[in-house]
Amino acid sequence: MKRSVYLFLLGIFFSLSLFSQTGIHYDVSFDPEEHYIHLNLSLSGLSEETTTLRMPVWAPGYYIIIDYPKNVVDFNAFDSEGNPISWEKEGKNGWVINNGAFRDITLSYRVYANTQSVAECMVTSDKAFIPGNGVYMHIEGKKESPVSVCFTLPDRWKQISTGLKRTEDANTFYAADFDILYDSPVYIGTQQVSYFTHEGHHYELALETPEGIEEQDFTGDLKKIISTCTALIGDVPYEDYCFILMGRGGGGLEHFNSQACFTYGTYHFETEEMYHGFLSFITHEYFHLYNVKTIRPIELGPFDYDREVFTPLLWISEGFTVYYELPILLRAGIINKDYFLKEMSAVIRKVEGNTGKNHMSLRQSSYDIWLNFFNRNANGADTRISYYDKGPIIGLLMDIEIRQMTDNRRSLDDVMRALYWQYYKEKNRGFTEEEFWQICTEVAGQPLTEMRRYVETTCAIDYTKYAAYAGLEIDENWNISISESCSGLPLCIRESIFGK
Ligand SMILES: [Zn+2]
Repeated sequence: MKRSVYLFLLGIFFSLSLFSQTGIHYDVSFDPEEHYIHLNLSLSGLSEETTTLRMPVWAPGYYIIIDYPKNVVDFNAFDSEGNPISWEKEGKNGWVINNGAFRDITLSYRVYANTQSVAECMVTSDKAFIPGNGVYMHIEGKKESPVSVCFTLPDRWKQISTGLKRTEDANTFYAADFDILYDSPVYIGTQQVSYFTHEGHHYELALETPEGIEEQDFTGDLKKIISTCTALIGDVPYEDYCFILMGRGGGGLEHFNSQACFTYGTYHFETEEMYHGFLSFITHEYFHLYNVKTIRPIELGPFDYDREVFTPLLWISEGFTVYYELPILLRAGIINKDYFLKEMSAVIRKVEGNTGKNHMSLRQSSYDIWLNFFNRNANGADTRISYYDKGPIIGLLMDIEIRQMTDNRRSLDDVMRALYWQYYKEKNRGFTEEEFWQICTEVAGQPLTEMRRYVETTCAIDYTKYAAYAGLEIDENWNISISESCSGLPLCIRESIFGK
């Protein structure tokens, strides 16, 4: 090949490479009085004559169709000279832009932001909460594209708190792809921000209503929770992590390197139990960085944001996360075993006190969550169960059973670690239902046949047997207590789970 032809072809190759990388940048500003977020989306290097943009209709961790595009108004498209170009809506969450020969275009739209929820946008005079799914659009088929976002703040807003990567410009952030952008909520306002470094990682603590925070060693307790969780799995997958703790409200949502939670609106807790309940909630969202973000059912990522993603395994992702709140806080030295037993007794009482347990299996409650996330039909407790309730019961029983089968050498922790290291780290994917049970078999040395029946059917749970395995007793009101006459393996199991 002649050198000139070679250079000519090389030039074409580099040009094509450049064009195949679409530049995506958002400029975001706010209209606090009217509760709007203004977005300007600059796209460069487009390669097709039409470009389809998509906005998610749901947010991972929040298993309900929210239909975010309902909040979009004044959508417009412009060519590189600022002239309007035509577009058409495709389905409820698609916009098809007829950009023709134009490689660089700009889109603008507004998002109405006036719902208080961990999964929806809110803009008021003193703050903005921006969960990415409800705001940004991606180019169809190009979710893997990197994206930058620049926020223009009203004068009185001072701080931006998020797990997104900061750039040299304080108001501009970067995400390597749209999964990260969608998984990184942003809180902007006048929140109190503090930073700490712990075991080589950086943490941001953003508090919308910090009143009373000095009454307890909250940062110290967070560090204990972080150390306990990360020691349990043996790896820290993030560089930095942001706790976004908002004002009074309900709910929290987990993200890979952040969490966004509503609080009591104050850190003045009337009782120690209330404070422990709050720490339990924070622990839950933090432990999710493992159990659902990295240790995940195969259906939960990469995500299809256009429709429901069904999985029969949320009883692991949510139920075991509820269970682990207790062992983590106990191992961290924050709660005692009486608190642990009282909480477990309460959750067993809730499940066993309703007839829903006779009509829905735990597995089914996972699969049908898309119908029931906010289903408040009057027959709910009579005909359905929640994986938030029966899930932690199975977590405890499985922990006890694995210990019982292995002479207390293995536990549920080994299952969680195996799932993390074998599927997230080695295979970089989620696990299937059969792979989950296979891991349990490998850890326990035999199949967990009875446990699987408790998950997949509505058969009655033999609490007395499992309590005895762990040196415990359970009475007719579902109160779990320490068995006085206990020695050998049950005593070892009890002390391993609940402490001495
Ligand atoms: Zn959860």
